Amino acid sequence: MAVKRKIFKKSIHSIKEIAQNVFVLSFARNFEFRAGQVVAVDVVTDGEPRLYSIASGELDEYIEILFDEKPDGKLTPKLSALLPGDTIYVSEPFGNFICNDESAWWIASGTGVAPFVSMVRSGQEIGKILIHGGRYDENFYFSDLLENKLSGNYIRCATQQADSAYYKGRLTGWLREQSFLPTELKYYLCGSPEMVVEVRDILISRHIPFGQIISETYF
Ligand SMILES: Cc1cc2nc3c(=O)[nH]c(=O)nc-3n(C[C@H](O)[C@H](O)[C@H](O)COP(=O)(O)OP(=O)(O)OC[C@H]3O[C@@H](n4cnc5c(N)ncnc54)[C@H](O)[C@@H]3O)c2cc1C
Repeated sequence: MAVKRKIFKKSIHSIKEIAQNVFVLSFARNFEFRAGQVVAVDVVTDGEPRLYSIASGELDEYIEILFDEKPDGKLTPKLSALLPGDTIYVSEPFGNFICNDESAWWIASGTGVAPFVSMVRSGQEIGKILIHGGRYDENFYFSDLLENKLSGNYIRCATQQADSAYYKGRLTGWLREQSFLPTELKYYLCGSPEMVVEVRDILISRHIPFGQIISETYF
């Protein structure tokens, strides 16, 4: 049976294209949430809402979501065309992709970095390593914040960008090259199904117990 969630009518506070076809949309926060949770978003009340990770800190005034526009998608072309003041419908927050203060590895592809941005903005960055995979420089969203808070524990793997700041290649390549992956820590994976499946396989092959791999897949 489908879960019935409270829906809020929200007015867009801001919407900005931060990289080609990638947007940050914000609206005023009127609910509490835990970093890592998602909201369902739509432009109508009777449509097929899509899920988005909250990228804001738990105490921030505005909720931000980070999304990439799928040109042939049902919702994202409509979202990217919205302007401040336009209406969207947003569910109450939900989800169990929740971290705590223990050391952990965070692994993200593309916009899958959003829940980790929320965790950093909520003060959970101590003891964390973030490995983020993207194509170009512009695809390392919120990199100023992440560099500032995580410094050497922020590893960017860029497939199309030759720059000494980045590992050249996919994040799975970086993981495979590591001689040591701690087996006692939790690994949080977020992003495309391909990345999640491949990383999970790598971790299991390196004796990380399945129960220590927590994933959020952006279907
Ligand atoms: C838990 C969770 C959290 C998420 N968080 C985020 C987030 O923070 N940011 C983010 O950007 N996304 C996130 N997503 C993904 C998001 O929910 C949407 O799926 C995404 O934005 C695309 O929505 P859309 O309606 O534009 O595209 P859709 O209409 O859903 O289409 C998606 C793609 O599939 C293709 N497609 C559609 N139907 C078919 C078909 N029948 N056959 C073949 N191909 C088809 C489309 O061409 C398009 O490229 C999350 C998903 C989940 C499950």
